[in-house]
Amino acid sequence: MEIVPSIQFDDTQVAFSYKNDRELKKANFIFSLVNNPTVSAIATSLAKISLALHLPVKGLIRMTVFEHFCGGETIEESEKMIEKLARFKVGTILDYSVEGEDDEVSFDKTTQELLSTFDEAKKNSSVPFCVFKVTGLGASDLLEKIVAKSSLSGDEAAAFERIRSRVDSICKKAYELQIPVLIDAEDSWIQNPIDELAYEMMQKYNGQKAVVFNTFQMYRADMLGNLRNAFHEAAMYNYFLGVKMVRGAYMEKEAERAARIGYANPIHPNKQASDDSFNKGLAFCIDNKQRISVMCGSHNEYSNQYLTVLMNKHGMANNDNRVWFAQLLGMSDNISFNLAKAGYNVAKYVPYGPVESVMPYLLRRASENTSVAGQSSRELILIRKELKRRKAI
Ligand SMILES: Cc1cc2nc3c(=O)[nH]c(=O)nc-3n(C[C@H](O)[C@H](O)[C@H](O)COP(=O)(O)OP(=O)(O)OC[C@H]3O[C@@H](n4cnc5c(N)ncnc54)[C@H](O)[C@@H]3O)c2cc1C
Repeated sequence: MEIVPSIQFDDTQVAFSYKNDRELKKANFIFSLVNNPTVSAIATSLAKISLALHLPVKGLIRMTVFEHFCGGETIEESEKMIEKLARFKVGTILDYSVEGEDDEVSFDKTTQELLSTFDEAKKNSSVPFCVFKVTGLGASDLLEKIVAKSSLSGDEAAAFERIRSRVDSICKKAYELQIPVLIDAEDSWIQNPIDELAYEMMQKYNGQKAVVFNTFQMYRADMLGNLRNAFHEAAMYNYFLGVKMVRGAYMEKEAERAARIGYANPIHPNKQASDDSFNKGLAFCIDNKQRISVMCGSHNEYSNQYLTVLMNKHGMANNDNRVWFAQLLGMSDNISFNLAKAGYNVAKYVPYGPVESVMPYLLRRASENTSVAGQSSRELILIRKELKRRKAI
């Protein structure tokens, strides 16, 4: 669809106003590094090996990629970043990014940590949402078994009940404190029970407004249909539907598993099809705004622009509370800060947690920003443009 831009995303002065010259030069260094596929592959392998061998690289990682993409190791350490973003009307979504935990003690500990993100949100209006991943609260093997419809042992059934109760304790707190909560989407082979839990929670807590948000990965060929079904279900049971819309982060893993096991890859056949599905999804949400609240979790300029155009067409105020824009800390500041300046509701995911535990997250960011065709990434172009404007390069 041809859209008339209503907002400029290339104003780098606005985009990087929260970074001083030193921080911007560091961003230039990091993106130059990850942009080169060979250097990026060597650096990420070295980081993995060094951490596994307990070599003293934590300080180096902390000073570079960690500082760029994360708020800190704890909520308290992340408060500086919350305030920094808030000065430019950009909210923070504290993302406890510890991945790969697999025992009950860790799941309970993660639940407690997630509950404390709500306490931070309650005392700080610059934290408009909280977020969690169900795999932080229970074993992914168990979720996979449920999707595969394998029969569960008594212990497994009890373990799933504990997942449900952890999810419920988080959503209940969200409801009591009226801080909306996002449930992240994960691999397709564990997603069904996550969806079912999300809808169970929406039915319980979304009676007056969208408190619980589920995530829709529009790179999945079935997702536009799932979105429509979720809407009809919400209408039937009379609750509000919270939608976080993303394209999806696990495309390679999805293709690899489908080929290995021998089933059809659930991902759209090309990028254009994912883009079309994402943009149609946005239009569907705005068409049904009387029941849907939507967060556009994307770094795609067209999709963000398109959502502003849809809002305008529907006569919605820029700061209508049913629509939020979200990007990850350290990425697409040009989108976040220019939208916030124009009065839209914007928040950044701000990951936090011990350096070693957020490594899988950091490695995903590195591979996402690696250039395939040898050209500079959009991030790098914008960072260099701003460094030049500041005469700092
Ligand atoms: C706030 C926020 C929250 C997020 N939460 C989640 C989450 O809960 N779960 C999750 O999975 N991801 C999540 N993501 C990541 C997201 O799914 C994307 O991986 C990432 O944002 C890149 O997509 P994009 O919309 O920014 O834009 P673009 O960079 O324009 O699109 C890249 C995306 O397009 C799709 N794509 C690329 N090539 C092809 C192809 N050949 N065929 C089909 N599709 C293709 C892939 O999804 C790829 O990631 C989140 C992102 C943000 C900003």
